Amino acid sequence: MDSTESQSLLAEMTWQEAELAFDEADFVVLPCGATEQHSTHLPTSVDTIRAKHLTAELADAASEYDLDLLVLPVLPYGYSEHHLNYSGTVSVGADTYQEIIIDIGRSVQRHGATRFLVTNFHAGNIEPHKLALDRLQRDHDLDSYYVHWTDFARERLEERFGSEWGHAGEYETSVIEHYRPELVHAERKTPQTKKNRYEVRQYSHFDDLTVEGGLGDPTQSDPVFLAEVIEETTDDILGHLRSERE
Ligand SMILES: [Zn+2]
Repeated sequence: MDSTESQSLLAEMTWQEAELAFDEADFVVLPCGATEQHSTHLPTSVDTIRAKHLTAELADAASEYDLDLLVLPVLPYGYSEHHLNYSGTVSVGADTYQEIIIDIGRSVQRHGATRFLVTNFHAGNIEPHKLALDRLQRDHDLDSYYVHWTDFARERLEERFGSEWGHAGEYETSVIEHYRPELVHAERKTPQTKKNRYEVRQYSHFDDLTVEGGLGDPTQSDPVFLAEVIEETTDDILGHLRSERE
């Protein structure tokens, strides 16, 4: 796994190796995470850990789909204003965040990237991502693609976990138990206490919605089931990328 991984990671290449990699890549991929509170049992790096490992799964399996992915370093900060009331959250404003995505896209375009793919692992990033990718496509003529990973796993997750498995719940807890179990405080896993639920209201800080900082019931996590979801979702996404290329 490590050898394939190092062939796809820009961070481990010299500029001469990068020159070749940009020539060969079907997609240049920017994995996007966040640094924000994930309840009392998970670290602030949950979305960044997911970005790193779940994007590496895509890169490692890409050759089975006759695809070549060149993976950029993970962007560890995102648009997380709604979590700032909890300590440890670091947020980049939406306008700045858009500009960061555009600048990264323009940089890789300069090196010959023809397809730019953002893989996203934090729901708060979606709106600024879409505006930034619109601009890269329309104003900078860079073919831009978007994978919000959870969307491709959603059906399988809902079938197993119901509807409230999102932030720091069954799903994210299972992923961290799969890749970085030493970072999970198992003794603090507890069903998350809901405060308010708004159907029409547009904005809420996360501490309006929950006491501990998460949703769902992390005690129901299942890393073995999640490993299957990862495999199926990786295949699903690679299938889509292959048909986009053709
Ligand atoms: Zn998260």
